[in-house]
Amino acid sequence: MIHLLMGAPGAGKGTQGDMLVERCGFVKLSTGDILRKHIADKTDIGKKIESVMASGSLVSDDLLIDMVRAELSRLHAEAPESEVLLDGFPRTVEQAVALEGLLKNLDCGLGTVIFLDVSDEDVIKRLCGRRVCRQCGKNYHVEYLPAAKDGICDDCGSELMHRDDDKEARIKNRLGVFRTQTSPVLDFYRENGHYVEMPASGSSEDVFSGVLDALEQSKSP
Ligand code: AMP
Repeated sequence: MIHLLMGAPGAGKGTQGDMLVERCGFVKLSTGDILRKHIADKTDIGKKIESVMASGSLVSDDLLIDMVRAELSRLHAEAPESEVLLDGFPRTVEQAVALEGLLKNLDCGLGTVIFLDVSDEDVIKRLCGRRVCRQCGKNYHVEYLPAAKDGICDDCGSELMHRDDDKEARIKNRLGVFRTQTSPVLDFYRENGHYVEMPASGSSEDVFSGVLDALEQSKSP
């Protein structure tokens, strides 16, 4: 079963996804993490997408759809029973339509679509203070979720970074991209399947209990 975590940048998709992985055994597939790994590894794809990502715009649909097709096929072959969370995909209606086809080919159901709703003001506060581990991708916040040792990941000891696209001007671009390109995807899911919209400006623990409820409810017909 595949579940979707949706929301503007900074809504907490990564944090909630990590909590579901750590506490409930979900498998998370974050397209942003995969793309950042390409950049860190300086692959051909990484070199092509680096400036687009730093600007806060979206990478091409074709590339994302191919990437998600490959990752979902691999996961499905390795562990067909796993509960998979997609974090950051789909972000356009074209990607949402392609995902329908991918799921059909894998004979895999779409579970809950969770939209984490936050204000622009909260997004800016969260992202300006967010720090991310260069190695394992774990998220921190200088104020709300600081690392035990400043600038160092608690889990793997690697350096924490402030992402280029988490600087204020880029955040505003990303919010604009979300509004124009990703909001229509929410309308797509509002009319299809188990769609749950929840306020996500509270603490990560409060949001997490709402996320668990939403996943639980979707199990009932
Ligand atoms: P995220 O870590 O999910 O905030 O994604 C960071 C950046 O990666 C986005 O601003 C886009 O440039 C790119 N990206 C991630 N997922 C997608 C997607 N599904 N479609 C297009 N670009 C994406």
